[in-house]
Amino acid sequence: MGTAHPPKRLLIQGATGSVGRSTLSVVREHPEYFRVVGLAARSNVAELGVLAAEFHVNSIALEDVSKRDDLQAIARQHGIAHVFAGEAAVAAQARDSEYDLLVNALTGSVGLEPTAVSLQRGLPVALANKETLVAAGPIIMKMAADHHAAVLPIDSEHSAIFQCLLGERLDQVRRIWLTTSGGPFWGRKQADLKNVSVQEALAHPTWKMGPKISIDSATLFNKGLEVIEAQRLFGVSPESIGVIAHRQSVVHSMVEFIDGSFKAQLSTPDMRLPILFSLSYPDRLPSHLVPTGPEHLRSLTFEPVEPRDFPCLDLAFDALKKGGTTPAALSAADEVAVDAFLNGRICFADIPEVIRGVVTVWPDEPLTDLTGVRSADTRARARAAEQVTRLSMNMKERPCC
Ligand code: MG
Repeated sequence: MGTAHPPKRLLIQGATGSVGRSTLSVVREHPEYFRVVGLAARSNVAELGVLAAEFHVNSIALEDVSKRDDLQAIARQHGIAHVFAGEAAVAAQARDSEYDLLVNALTGSVGLEPTAVSLQRGLPVALANKETLVAAGPIIMKMAADHHAAVLPIDSEHSAIFQCLLGERLDQVRRIWLTTSGGPFWGRKQADLKNVSVQEALAHPTWKMGPKISIDSATLFNKGLEVIEAQRLFGVSPESIGVIAHRQSVVHSMVEFIDGSFKAQLSTPDMRLPILFSLSYPDRLPSHLVPTGPEHLRSLTFEPVEPRDFPCLDLAFDALKKGGTTPAALSAADEVAVDAFLNGRICFADIPEVIRGVVTVWPDEPLTDLTGVRSADTRARARAAEQVTRLSMNMKERPCC
């Protein structure tokens, strides 16, 4: 991608979250290559307004419909032609805007529709939204293939695997190894984790992230979601995906080939690097945003992950093998469980119990279309809420809280 080309036009959804902000910082460093044409956020209308003015966008979207007046005021002030508010805003913006790449950094199932809309228009998606692939992966990847539109992973692990697989053949892959820092509780046994507070669980050793993903990193549920995403993105069997603990977070993931050779992708942990690659693909851009000195590579360690220490990871593998709408139910159940933990309604150790209470009785049903995904999501949330109610009623009698 030389500077002779016009800048790639980006629609960035989830702009005020951690991945969105990192994406904007990459764009600020490389304005000759990228231009932000649209921005979306969940409810932070003030920050959205500041960003919209800075980047001179021509469309803005906000999920929170109660702030529609503020949004309209921003649009008038900065002469923004297209404004979208409400639950369907992000999908409408993805459908009705002109752009070359959607950066989907939304959290939750709301991220599903804009991905689908962009791919159906033949437009590539740089994807950080996990629910898209976990809940609807086979449908989304089929859309991508049918419309010749790429799904470019932003997550550091999947970006690493994507890069290791460039120029390789899938039938020559023996195993994909996802690395994990192990989260804040690495080395502690399940039995010691019953009393952990929300603050302890939010303290991730490497990455500064939002509360949901921080809790998911502490339970390793996040790694479970990444296992499912990897299966969707790269089309390998669940059995050929492994998870290995790597405390330094320098090796972002690895691919093992049938001849016994490994390829890995390494760098200082900084989300801006996988983001830059997803924006510049299929090119690489000259950049000094994320320097990696040899001192970062001095001691790289790898340790096995014991499934019994991380029941949430185990539940994710089981859901992937069961297939159909079970991964959608798994993801929805976790959202309810984590929210209940953050609000003090259940203990940390109850999170896998809520998920288990949903997925073990989940019916065997095929994944047919996005309507089926939404229905599974709704039913799983209702079932998870029952589990939360049951567990929270016992809170006082149990020693864990
Ligand atoms: Mg990750």
